[in-house]
Amino acid sequence: MLKKEIKQTSKINSCLFCDFVSGKWIKHKPKFTFEKLFETKLTLSFLSIDFPSPKRVHVLIIPKKHYVNLQDCPKKVLHELIEHVVLVSKALRLEHEGSNILLNDGRGAEQTVMHTHFHLVPRNKGDGIEIELWKRVNISQKSYSKLNKEVKKLILKANKKK
Ligand SMILES: [Zn+2]
Repeated sequence: MLKKEIKQTSKINSCLFCDFVSGKWIKHKPKFTFEKLFETKLTLSFLSIDFPSPKRVHVLIIPKKHYVNLQDCPKKVLHELIEHVVLVSKALRLEHEGSNILLNDGRGAEQTVMHTHFHLVPRNKGDGIEIELWKRVNISQKSYSKLNKEVKKLILKANKKK
């Protein structure tokens, strides 16, 4: 039990984004110095170094405190996070036609930094950036209704647990 707790703590201590917040960014990538884009009491945004093209930015918006998944965030943090995402989206819309707003929630969804974060990539029609593609499958009305019922059940179950 204790071993597990220590492991958990050391994981949090070595979180890349927690290091951004506390100003230790240089330890991870000496070539890049962390620069804040915008900050609120509970949230922070900065440019990811994972650029989709040489002139196209990719913004990350994070809670300042360490939460692994979106569902771990308290309501106040969620509220500020969404407002921050909307602000950055509005700002980039001044020069772009739209944006992709993404959040990979959990390892199964390819979350790599285990500190919850929104990705925002400004987009223009025909810019050639591919976020993630899957092949759409055709389903019947019956399958649609069946899946709808199943997800509805899960939502009701999750809502009861709140
Ligand atoms: Zn963290």
